[in-house]
Amino acid sequence: GAGELPADWERPLEGQVAVVTGAARGIGAEIARTLARDGATVVAVDVPAAGDALAAVANEVHGSALQLDVTREDAAERITEHVRSRHGQLDLVIHNAGILRDKLLANMKPETWDPVLAVNVTAPLRITQALLDGDQLGTAPRVVCLASTSGIAGNRGQTNYAASKAGVIGMVRASASALEGAGGTINAVAPGFIETDMTARIPFATREVARRLNSLQQGGQPRDVAEAIAFLVSPQAGGVNGQVLRVCGQNMVG
Ligand code: NAD
Repeated sequence: GAGELPADWERPLEGQVAVVTGAARGIGAEIARTLARDGATVVAVDVPAAGDALAAVANEVHGSALQLDVTREDAAERITEHVRSRHGQLDLVIHNAGILRDKLLANMKPETWDPVLAVNVTAPLRITQALLDGDQLGTAPRVVCLASTSGIAGNRGQTNYAASKAGVIGMVRASASALEGAGGTINAVAPGFIETDMTARIPFATREVARRLNSLQQGGQPRDVAEAIAFLVSPQAGGVNGQVLRVCGQNMVG
């Protein structure tokens, strides 16, 4: 059940170690900052090409950096090794790394489909499974995956991305009992349009529509997503498992 407010409630994650993938920029960097603010020690993970930006985020949050492509077969092993040698146990895993390769269905080819599925859904599934199998997680592990409203309602030009994010939602719902068995939880957040590098090249008209639909009348910010995740990994959210929390500033149907 939900925990009591801890004595040090302003830093509810004190003593916990969090891995955040895709942490070099955008939503992932903001998740790293927010969990660090709440007391967690953060391991910031991103691809080697993001090295400098990744190091900067790791320094800013007084955590550590791990250069790793999450689709590597040995990704979970590398995460475990890094955490064990530097920080001890692993408590929180935030699967934030994700990619877009938008194409209309007529132009959707295996090379635009496969990488999106590999990064967005297969990697979180394999890493979570390996960490659970290997007993690599602390006593009350919390896992949060980045889904998307595109995975709930679909979006033109995003058959690959929408399928991957719908897959994330299915995975989260189906693995809730496994996490519960391990004393923890797994949940997803489904952001709507958030202003980051990922969405910077989306055509202007679409951005304007997204801003208007948001109840705050502006594009969603990485911070909106990071705060929702901070709740899901907090001691107070122990009773929330297998859920999808939309962070889209509107009462979206679907
Ligand atoms: P972004 O492109 O700005 O940042 C993504 C980060 O993930 C980058 O630093 C990138 O290097 C890293 N990454 C990509 N592939 C990786 C891999 N194989 N291994 C390790 N790291 C990898 O994106 P963002 O907007 O910050 O999105 C973060 C997450 O939120 C994604 O999962 C995205 O699908 C999801 N999301 C974003 C929005 C939005 O509107 N921005 C909406 C819904 C969901």
